[in-house]
Amino acid sequence: MPGTINGVGTHYWGRKNTVHIAGRCQNCGADTNLKSYDTWYCIVFAFIPVLPLGRRRVLDECPSCNRHNYMPLKKYRQTRDEALEEAAEAYRTNPADAEVASNFIQTLIGWRQRDTFVEASQTLESANRNVIDNLLLLAAAHGAFYRSQDEERCLRAALQLEDRPEIRWDLALNLILQRRSTEAIPFMQHLFEQEGAAAVPGLQLLVRGLQQDGHHDEALGILTRIEQTFPDALDEKEFARLRKDSEKHRATGKRIRHKDLELKPPKDKNTSGCLTAFPLLVPLFFLVIFVSLGVDSSGSAEIYLVNGVGQPYNVTIEGRQYTLSPGSRLKTSVSTGSISLTYANAVGEERTRTLELEGGFFSWLDNNLTLVNPDLCAIVLWEETVYSQTPEEDYEPAARVQTGQLVHTHQDIDFKFVPFPDQIETSSDRVFRQRLSLLDSSDPTLALAMYLVNHSGEERLAFVKNRLDFHPGDAVSLKVLELLEKDSVPAK
Ligand SMILES: [Zn+2]
Repeated sequence: MPGTINGVGTHYWGRKNTVHIAGRCQNCGADTNLKSYDTWYCIVFAFIPVLPLGRRRVLDECPSCNRHNYMPLKKYRQTRDEALEEAAEAYRTNPADAEVASNFIQTLIGWRQRDTFVEASQTLESANRNVIDNLLLLAAAHGAFYRSQDEERCLRAALQLEDRPEIRWDLALNLILQRRSTEAIPFMQHLFEQEGAAAVPGLQLLVRGLQQDGHHDEALGILTRIEQTFPDALDEKEFARLRKDSEKHRATGKRIRHKDLELKPPKDKNTSGCLTAFPLLVPLFFLVIFVSLGVDSSGSAEIYLVNGVGQPYNVTIEGRQYTLSPGSRLKTSVSTGSISLTYANAVGEERTRTLELEGGFFSWLDNNLTLVNPDLCAIVLWEETVYSQTPEEDYEPAARVQTGQLVHTHQDIDFKFVPFPDQIETSSDRVFRQRLSLLDSSDPTLALAMYLVNHSGEERLAFVKNRLDFHPGDAVSLKVLELLEKDSVPAK
C-alpha cells in the first residue's frame, strides 16, 4: 500500500483501464463500488511523482477505507489472459455443460471482464434457462456490473424455476434500487410469515424504498402491518420517524431521499492516457522523512462487528446503530475499556452484553485483530502455513477453530479474511504466515458440530441456547438442547 507523510512517500500516479464493480469490501465490509485500474507505483515528493517503481494493477480499491489488493501489471495481464483463455476454450468446446458455463461466468466476474461478459451473457442465459444456479450467477454478475434490468430478468427466470425466499429478497432489492418499489411489495410478503421478528429490518428497507419513490400511502400500510405482526420487535424511535415522514408528505407525494438506496454506477474515469511512459517531472530526487506520527489512538480500538447467525440484526454500541447482515463483518471504531452493546434476538427480546477492550497509548503499535460477535455464534478459523524455497512434504498446516466468544483477539495476522496467496515475496528461505477467516455459521449443524467437539458441559448448553435465540425453530438445535439437558441432570 502506498503512503505519504507530508507529501513525501509512495503513491499511485495515473489511471487506465478502470473497471468498477458493485461488491463488498474484503477489509471494512462496506457494500460499495470497488475500483480496479492500471497505474504507476512511484515515489512522490510534494505529491509530485519523481521516481517510478513499477506498473501495477490495483484490484478492488474500496472508496471507504482505501484498502485494495494489487499485482505487478505484467504478471496480472499474463495470469488473467491464461485464466480467461482456459475458461473460454473449455466453454467453446462444451457450451452445453452447466459446470463449464458456471466456471466461465465466474472467471469473467473474478477478472472483472465486463465487456466480454456482456457479449457472452445472452448466449449463456438462453443455454442455461433451466439451470437455476447459473441463472443466479448471471443475475449476480449483471448486478455487479450495474445492469439492473438484466439482473431482474435473470432473477425472475430463476424464481419461475424455484420459489426461494432469498431469490424473492434479491428481486425485491433489485426493484427498490430501480426505483420501482411498489413492484417489490409482493416479493416481500413472505417476510410477514417469518417466525420471529428477523423480518423487520427487511421490511423497513421496503418502507424506505417506498418513501424514496413518494408512495407514502403504501409505506404507511406496510408500517401498520409490521406493527400488527411484530408488536414486540420494533425499534420505536426509527418507526416513529418513518411514520412521521410519510404522514407529513402523504398529501404531496414528495420523494424522500435515502442515499443508501440510490444506485449510482460510477464513471470509469481514466486520468492519464500515456501510462506507458513515466514522466520524470523532477530531475532531482530527495527523500525527506518528516516523522509526524503524532497519532493518539489511546481511548479507541478498531474492531470488526461479526454476524454469526443466518439472520440480519441491529446492534447498538455507544449510541450508534449497525445493521449486520448474515455472515457479514463491519469495521468500526469504539472506545476502549468496558462498554456495552445491545441487540434484539429473533423474537425481539433485547439483549445487552458488556465487552472489555484493551487500550493504551501504544496500542496502535500492536498488530491486533479484534472481532466482536454479539450473537456468540460465529465460527472463527485461524490457520498457519509455511512458505519455503523447497517443498516441505512433512509439514502439516496448523489450524484452530473458535466459537462461542463475544470478543476474539488475534495478533500478527498476515491475511485477514482473504485466502493465502500461492507465493509471497520474502528475503528468507522459510517463513510462516497466519490468516483469519469466518466459516459459514448460518448452517446450524456445522456451527453446532464445531462447538460441541471443542467444548463441554455448561458452555455447550449456553451455545445451543444462543443459536436458538436467532433460529428458534431449528430442529437440530432443539434436539441437541433436549439431549444436553437430559445429560446435565445428575444421575440418581
Ligand atoms: Zn473498505
